[in-house]
Amino acid sequence: MEELSYYEILEVSRNANGDEIKKAYRKMAKLYHPDRNPDDPDAEHKFKLCNEAYQVLSDEKQRSIYDRYGKEGLQGGMGSSRGGFGGFDDLGSIFEEMFNGFAGGGRRGGRSQADKFPLDMGVEMRISFKEAVFGCEKEITFTSKTSCKSCKGTGAKEGKVTGCSQCGGKGQVYMRQGFMTFSQTCPACHGEGTMASEKCPDCNGKSYTENQEKVTVKIPAGIDTGNRLRVSGRGNTGKSGVRGDLYVTFDVEEDSHFIRNGNDVYLEVPVFFTQAVLGEAITIPSLTGELTLELETGTKDTQQYRFRGEGISDVHGRGKGDLIAQVRLTYPSRLSGEQEELLLKLQESFGIESKPHESLFESAFEKVKGWFK
Ligand SMILES: [Zn+2]
Ligand SMILES: [Zn+2]
Repeated sequence: MEELSYYEILEVSRNANGDEIKKAYRKMAKLYHPDRNPDDPDAEHKFKLCNEAYQVLSDEKQRSIYDRYGKEGLQGGMGSSRGGFGGFDDLGSIFEEMFNGFAGGGRRGGRSQADKFPLDMGVEMRISFKEAVFGCEKEITFTSKTSCKSCKGTGAKEGKVTGCSQCGGKGQVYMRQGFMTFSQTCPACHGEGTMASEKCPDCNGKSYTENQEKVTVKIPAGIDTGNRLRVSGRGNTGKSGVRGDLYVTFDVEEDSHFIRNGNDVYLEVPVFFTQAVLGEAITIPSLTGELTLELETGTKDTQQYRFRGEGISDVHGRGKGDLIAQVRLTYPSRLSGEQEELLLKLQESFGIESKPHESLFESAFEKVKGWFK
């Protein structure tokens, strides 16, 4: 596409007259209009090329320069040429026609060609672990943009824009180095191709006004960090009055006891070694209250017990996760004389001697000795 001539882009012959060019442009512009091809960057590119081609070919002076010297001839001359943006009025009326034609066709989500900012917007929200587990209602304060009415979203006083003098309305400036030509987005008009003759006093040239607003959102149970919630129609307001959507991205605080993994929660349960040995039933906290954990006799450190359905509700309504209790064995770090005595007695009752290596590791010692024989 890059290599096509302006005639080829509009699919007209080199002898085409003004009307034919206009007709061809309308056809192509409708075909590739971003509103009709929302997720197609290729179409957007083609649309831009069509605009570029039409701007040149619809202007007699530019067309004759282009015919003789090609694009390069225009690049040199356009900055100073007043006629450089001759096709603008025509272009304006065609756009209006097209937008009216598309009204109701629904231009949602993405940035509209006419708006200088995206209509959808995002905010971040931090909520507590408990709020995420059970769901909640939250009021969000956010700042949205509304396309300025007095300047029709152009940022120019009374909407009066002129072709950018720096880039001649092309939105790109060109630098030549030897045989090569580099292009970059025009710094004066940021690629728009137009400039305000005078700043709009109502929006200070920004093209939009900002309003702080509040909205109460219902956050479903099970929301997790990184989840996004769409609040329909609470985004920025474009030139046409259409509002985009507000996207709320959540950041869930960590809990001091429960560790979340998807819809499952983990809980570390300190168990005193005698409880583990005896296999006692102990009470542990759950997300909704309490649970009884019946330890197996001889429970080991890091042993896990799973409680099905005691985890977090799936945010899409697909059941519930589990609660996994992981045992952390604890031992006394100090013993009273009486405790020591009792423990020794207990040990003896298992037939374990105070010098365990002589009995327990006897065979192991023999084996090691054997290595050196
Ligand atoms: Zn410019
Ligand atoms: Zn304004």
